[in-house]
Amino acid sequence: MADDCLFCKIIAGEIPSTKVYEDDTTYAFKDINPKAKVHVLIVPKQHCANAAELANSDPAELAHIVEIAQSIADKEFHGAYRLIFNTGKDAGQSVFHVHAHVLTGETMEE
Ligand code: 5GP
Ligand code: ZN
Repeated sequence: MADDCLFCKIIAGEIPSTKVYEDDTTYAFKDINPKAKVHVLIVPKQHCANAAELANSDPAELAHIVEIAQSIADKEFHGAYRLIFNTGKDAGQSVFHVHAHVLTGETMEE
């Protein structure tokens, strides 16, 4: 666990969250400030800063995150979803523990 990482604390249960999915490597929970009807964050339990680092260190985990996103969208909205990895402060990344935003549950603007 990285010092002072919000998502490491959420994964450890030190900060409460609404769980959507969990397995040995991965945790998914509802975003506190949803930008769509269904807005879930999917995070690897292992701390890693961003998607490019994860692709390098554990590409199977990155693929696993995409599979989980698909299964959430299959359940919530006939398989349609938007998958976002904000990478870098100037792109809107505010938590530097890699997370996929899954936006689904409703028809979205382009
Ligand atoms: P980023 O801006 O890094 O791409 O995404 C961080 C996301 O984490 C934001 O969408 C924000 O709403 C969400 N978030 C920040 N703090 C918390 C929290 O304490 N609990 C939950 N569930 N989501 C959080
Ligand atoms: Zn972390």
